[in-house]
Amino acid sequence: MNRPPAVLWIAVVLLLLVPTAAGRLLLDLAGGLLLTLLALPLILSGLGWIGWKVLQSRMISCTACGATGFKGADLCAVCGTPYGNAGDDAGVSASQSTPASDLTIDVIAQDVDSDS
Ligand SMILES: [Zn+2]
Repeated sequence: MNRPPAVLWIAVVLLLLVPTAAGRLLLDLAGGLLLTLLALPLILSGLGWIGWKVLQSRMISCTACGATGFKGADLCAVCGTPYGNAGDDAGVSASQSTPASDLTIDVIAQDVDSDS
């Protein structure tokens, strides 16, 4: 076990205390490393949150068993319930059951008298 001699520690402390270029470089390096270590978890958690939201928007939950699957799949991977008629919202299923031709709105043109 070779412990570093005390002279080395004194030299490092002197480098940090005395405002020299090497001491400032060491301090800047330490500050940068500390900032990176502090900011990295924040950045990673932000990226993870965004990834989780993107993943969540592409997932669909089975109404029969509650298992989550991707939206592209037709059947639930766990229980086999089709996602198409069970997992959709009420508005989507209503528009599927009613033909689009019944939902058209008739617009009647009327003459409007204007005094000008
Ligand atoms: Zn299921």
